Amino acid sequence: CGIVGYIGDRPLWPVLLEGLRRLEYRGYDSAGVVYFRKNDIEITKVKGRVYDLEERLYRKDTSGVGAPGLGHTRWATHGEPSDENAHPHFDCSKGLALVHNGIIENYYQLKERLLKKGHTFVSATDTEVIVHLIEDYYKEGFSLWEAFLKAINELQGAFAIALISNKEPDKILVARYQSPLVIGLGEKESFLASDIPALLPFTKRVVFLQDKECAILSKEGLKLFDFEGNSKDYTETTIHWDL
Ligand code: GLU
Repeated sequence: CGIVGYIGDRPLWPVLLEGLRRLEYRGYDSAGVVYFRKNDIEITKVKGRVYDLEERLYRKDTSGVGAPGLGHTRWATHGEPSDENAHPHFDCSKGLALVHNGIIENYYQLKERLLKKGHTFVSATDTEVIVHLIEDYYKEGFSLWEAFLKAINELQGAFAIALISNKEPDKILVARYQSPLVIGLGEKESFLASDIPALLPFTKRVVFLQDKECAILSKEGLKLFDFEGNSKDYTETTIHWDL
């Protein structure tokens, strides 16, 4: 039950894996990452510990891997702990990848609707509906950001989510409602995490997302919005403790 994310020029693994290790105290049953490789997104995820995820990554060809990337530790609420149910989750076209903490209470209704429209699901999670919903609006002609906004406004329950796409590799989209999410600021880089300890090795400058806030993260920093898409100002906090 933790999320980390990074966009910038640092090597990706230390940020994601150290970040996930620093969120282990929150408890979890599976772990996964999504990253860019050769202009496309790849997912590696396992039932088990962050250590098991690292083992799996060692056996893969991860040359040329770079940001943006996301990491997740899962505490299963819908669907047993398994490789398939671990996050990140893809849409049908495998162009979008998403991580989520929380519970989507209306996932069943959304899933029925999306199944009728021809979407195929590969997991038993509530989370997978979010990424298909975004894909659905995107295919209707909305921009990625518009599709993201439309989708998050339909979700009931609790969520901290982060999305990356091979269509717009220069950004990470995030949203929060009743699940924690902290943004980390840097020079030509941005971070995100469920909690401060995951960010502290890399930056002390943070912004706490509030309920019904969403954001676009890029190398240029943070753009904050409400769920209607209106731009908002944010308050930066400097953390003065170490961990
Ligand atoms: N409800 C989601 C799932 O079961 C997310 C759980 C979590 O917060 O880790 O996959």
